[in-house]
Amino acid sequence: IIELSFVPSLGVRIRIGGHDYDGLSHASSVPFIMVDLFNMRSITVQYHGAWMMSGAKLGEVYYRIAEKSKIHSYPAGVCPAVGVGSHLSGGGYGNLMSKYGFSVDNIVDAVVVDASGDDVADKTDEDLFIRVVLNPVARKGQVAIKAKFNALFLGDAQRLVSLMDEKFPELSQYCFGLIIKLNMIQLQKPVLTFNPYEGKKSEVSELDTPFPHRAENIYKIQHAVSWKEGVEGLDRNLDLIRKLYDYMTPFYIDLGINEIGNASYEQASSWSMKYFKGNFDRLMLVMVDPGNFFTYEQSIPSLAAASWKNRMSE
Ligand SMILES: Cc1cc2nc3c(=O)[nH]c(=O)nc-3n(C[C@H](O)[C@H](O)[C@H](O)COP(=O)(O)OP(=O)(O)OC[C@H]3O[C@@H](n4cnc5c(N)ncnc54)[C@H](O)[C@@H]3O)c2cc1C
Repeated sequence: IIELSFVPSLGVRIRIGGHDYDGLSHASSVPFIMVDLFNMRSITVQYHGAWMMSGAKLGEVYYRIAEKSKIHSYPAGVCPAVGVGSHLSGGGYGNLMSKYGFSVDNIVDAVVVDASGDDVADKTDEDLFIRVVLNPVARKGQVAIKAKFNALFLGDAQRLVSLMDEKFPELSQYCFGLIIKLNMIQLQKPVLTFNPYEGKKSEVSELDTPFPHRAENIYKIQHAVSWKEGVEGLDRNLDLIRKLYDYMTPFYIDLGINEIGNASYEQASSWSMKYFKGNFDRLMLVMVDPGNFFTYEQSIPSLAAASWKNRMSE
C-alpha cells in the first residue's frame, strides 16, 4: 500500500474515527489510498499521564484511565468514537475545558513520524514551532474557582430575551436574530449548539499551540441533525440541515481549502492564515513532510515552504 501511495496520481488519506466534518478522511475528488489507523490503538496509562497511539478512540482513552483511577481523566471531546490523533491536532474541546483547556493544551510529549516511518520529532530545529507543541504550554499559575450552571429557562421567550439583554447584551442580540430567522423557517429538527470558549483555554496564548482560536472567541457553533429512520430519512434531513446552513451563511466566512495537488504558498495561505493565523508560517517551516506525501485539502504545503524559505533567505 505504501509503495502504491507514491504513485503521483494517487492521494493518501488518513482515517481514524471517520468523523471529519468535511469527510476529508474518506472522500476526495481524486483517487486515493486510505490508511486506516484502527490497529494503532494502544494506550499506556502512567502516573503523570498516558501514552496514546494515534488510532485509539476517545472512549478507549477514558476507559483505560478509569481502569486505573476513578478521579482522573483527560480533557477531550464527548464523542467516544473520535480518534486521538485527529482530535488532538484540531484542538479538542469537551466537558473539562473550562478548567483544563483544550486537549492540545495538555500534550506534553509526542512521537512524530514522517512518510518513511522515521521519528522526526528530535531532528527538527530547536527553534521550530513543533518544539513548542511538544513541550508543556505556559500556565499563569493562578488558582480560580468557577461555578458552571447548565440551566433550563422556565419562563416565556420574551422574558428570556429581556433577561439576556440585561446580562449578556451582545449574545442576546445575536441569538435573538437567530431565533427570529429559525422561527421563520420552522426547521424544528436541526440543532444549533453553542460551545462556550472561556476559562483555561483563554489563558493559553495563540502562539503556544497550532490551535489559535482562544480569548477573542466566545463560542463555537455546531449545526447538527440526527434521525432514526435510516436511509429513508436521509433526503429530508439533509434538506433541513442545508436550509439551516443557508440561513446561517451570511453570519460566517467560508475559509476555503487547498486546490487539489500541490497548493502554492499563496493559495494555501488564503485559507490557512485565517485558520492557523500567525502560526501558519511557523508550521510551514517545520518541514516534517518535505515531499508533501500527506498533502490533502487541508494540509500545509511543505514544498511551498521550501521555496518560501529560499525567498526569505535571499
Ligand atoms: C458526532 C460528532 C461529535 C463530535 N464531538 C466533538 C467534541 O465533543 N469535541 C471536539 O473537540 N470535537 C468533536 N467532534 C469533532 C471531531 O473531534 C473532529 O472532527 C475529529 O477530527 C474527528 O476525528 P476522527 O478520528 O473521528 O475523524 P477522521 O475523519 O478519521 O479524521 C479527521 C481528520 O484528521 C485527519 N487525521 C486522522 N488521523 C490523523 C493523524 N494521525 N495525523 C494527522 N491527521 C490525522 C484525517 O485525515 C481527517 O482529515 C465531533 C464530531 C462529530 C462528527
